[in-house]
Amino acid sequence: MNMITNHPPTAELQALDAAHHMHPFTANAELARKGAKVITAARGVYLTDSDGNQILDAMAGLWCVNIGYGRDEIAEVAARQMRELPYYNTFFQTTHVPAIALATKLAELVPGDLNHVFFASGGSDANDTNIRMVRHYWAAKGKPDKKVIISRKNAYHGSTVAAASLGGMSAMHAQGGLPIPDIHHIDEPNWYAQGGDQSPEEFGLERARQLEKAIEQLGEDRVAAFIAEPVQGAGGVIIPPETYWPEIQRICDEHEILLIADEVICGFGRTGNWFGSDTFNIRPDIMTIAKGLSSGYAPIGGSMVSDEVAEVIANAGDFAHGYTYSGHPVAAAVALENLRILEEERIIDTVRDDTAPYLAEKWRKLENHPLIGQASIVGMVGSVVMTPDKAARAPFASPAGTVGTICRDRCFANNLVMRHVGDRMIISPPLVMTREDIDTLIERAWRSIEETWKEVKRQGLLVAG
Ligand SMILES: *Cc1c(COP(=O)(O)O)cnc(C)c1O
Repeated sequence: MNMITNHPPTAELQALDAAHHMHPFTANAELARKGAKVITAARGVYLTDSDGNQILDAMAGLWCVNIGYGRDEIAEVAARQMRELPYYNTFFQTTHVPAIALATKLAELVPGDLNHVFFASGGSDANDTNIRMVRHYWAAKGKPDKKVIISRKNAYHGSTVAAASLGGMSAMHAQGGLPIPDIHHIDEPNWYAQGGDQSPEEFGLERARQLEKAIEQLGEDRVAAFIAEPVQGAGGVIIPPETYWPEIQRICDEHEILLIADEVICGFGRTGNWFGSDTFNIRPDIMTIAKGLSSGYAPIGGSMVSDEVAEVIANAGDFAHGYTYSGHPVAAAVALENLRILEEERIIDTVRDDTAPYLAEKWRKLENHPLIGQASIVGMVGSVVMTPDKAARAPFASPAGTVGTICRDRCFANNLVMRHVGDRMIISPPLVMTREDIDTLIERAWRSIEETWKEVKRQGLLVAG
């Protein structure tokens, strides 16, 4: 028996974890003192930890387990593919059936003429591909100076050097000398925090028009592309005002720049349609995909590319770019089976017509709690903003995330995974949640918020900053 099939008790696992495992996005010394929660199994929408707790996963892992945990069909497809052809590359004049089948299926599912895919292992490296591809595209069209990519503050596009530069996370830029050159950030459409006295509609237009101003300032002959998530995910599930995307689309149509929709979270049903681009009527030239593409069962991502861009790239000689695992056969087979399940079980239809409206109605009622300033949701992705003063939409005086951390810990104590971003609490549950699961989610969320409120008052933190 090995250590995985016959593991030691929790404390010993935690000690080994602390001794040898560096966690991403974590203050590791602090975690080592506390001990990481050890997840040992999962079924449907519930995780099991090494102490036997059943935890409702309202984050679908990291926004990715759209079909829920424990689907045997996927395990069988993966095992079969590993036996048949566990690996082969697609660099040197070869291809294989899983990559062909997945590329064909994706071309059918994604909107518009995004009929071509360049495979990556996740979302970060797919966005690296996008940077390389849009610059190569303009150079091939005789415009090598069109290199600048406009992105947004508080956007998340991944964690490689280039993807973190595209993203607008100040804490990430503060480490390691980011961003790389020729990335320009405009403000985000976060009305709650930044909208002041404007209506959400006015604010959405103003923020979209920053794109036009940036293009004029930088010079259209220098701008290659604009990249954005349909709904900012890691930034705190910020759903833009209704006026935002139509104005962005107008600006992109009227200027010679490419539009990249980063659908790593929004894709594959998250917003109640196959893609966020469907929900918000966006017509991208390139779309980043990952996460829900395989429901997290295998690491895979990619860039969906329009006919026009793909043709220019195809005729520009060798595109000097690729990953060893581009189109990995096991990951591709897993993704294809995931798409079959999403489609044949009509999971996205059920979300759109039944469970998302049911969840939305209950989620919005969290605004009845004195600690909650705003509850917003689209499809199966939502957020609540905690505030010490609802009328003023005020932030807390304590450092951002103080109250959020208290709430996140209360959620854990109540066997609910909800993540905090600053003092916003966010959910992105598996799409297969039933009404009963949703009732449990709301009941545990309310209880955790109530306990947070008491704790915040006890610590004297209910103070506007
Ligand atoms: C998670 C995420 C990424 C990065 O994907 P990885 O697979 O972690 O590299 C990129 N863009 C968005 C919008 C994401 O949410």
